[in-house]
Amino acid sequence: CGIVGYVGPASSLDVLLGGLRRLEYRGYDSAGVAVIDDEGNLGTSKKAGKLQTLVDELAEHPVPRGGTGIGHTRWATHGGPTDVNAHPHLADGGRLAVIHNGIIENFSELRDELLAEGAEFASETDTEVAAVLLGREYRATGDLVEAFRRTVVRLDGAFTLLAVHRDSPGLVVGARRNSPLVIGLGEGENFLGSDVAAFVEHTRNAVAIGQDQIVAITADEVVVTDFDGGPVTVEPFEVAWNA
Ligand code: GLU
Repeated sequence: CGIVGYVGPASSLDVLLGGLRRLEYRGYDSAGVAVIDDEGNLGTSKKAGKLQTLVDELAEHPVPRGGTGIGHTRWATHGGPTDVNAHPHLADGGRLAVIHNGIIENFSELRDELLAEGAEFASETDTEVAAVLLGREYRATGDLVEAFRRTVVRLDGAFTLLAVHRDSPGLVVGARRNSPLVIGLGEGENFLGSDVAAFVEHTRNAVAIGQDQIVAITADEVVVTDFDGGPVTVEPFEVAWNA
């Protein structure tokens, strides 16, 4: 339902929780975050219920403090609103964390294919199928952007997908089809959001990602390509002050 991503010098957890708070108006039933520190330690935390439930959980079981992270508020469509079904979903042996807005229509065929290969699933969500597929393609390519390209062309329906991998601290990769994704351009930091509310308190410089495009952000760079890896033209805009 709500998505935020961050790479930069700040504590990503603070940026993520601030962004998720601003996205609360959309409604949700669960919330979660994944954070990577400079050493590549990946920590995730997710809870059914209000954002405050996640904040309380984080106070008891902290995640590493790091500058790379993704955060999600879920509105359950596949699988009930439980801690296990909340996002992020992990794959590639717990090294990859994925969040998703939307519905993957062909998830049950994909899940059967992956089960036949010996994959295991922790949740009942359509999202975890995309996470496991992305993990498989990451193992095949060793490149998160290339793994996204190979994964998204297999997915029908609506998705905004964001992922981080512990091999790539300092990188958040995202993709969208039939579901929105916006970049927030900072100085020495960059943001992703399902809408500009996710980052508007940090920057007003934004770029809307087009249909069927992939974006990779680091602290200093933003690269947008189509699903084939071809370059695309982006059109920056300024978020109005009353947003
Ligand atoms: N279909 C996914 C789920 O049920 C994502 C729902 C959402 O957009 O929050 O977990």
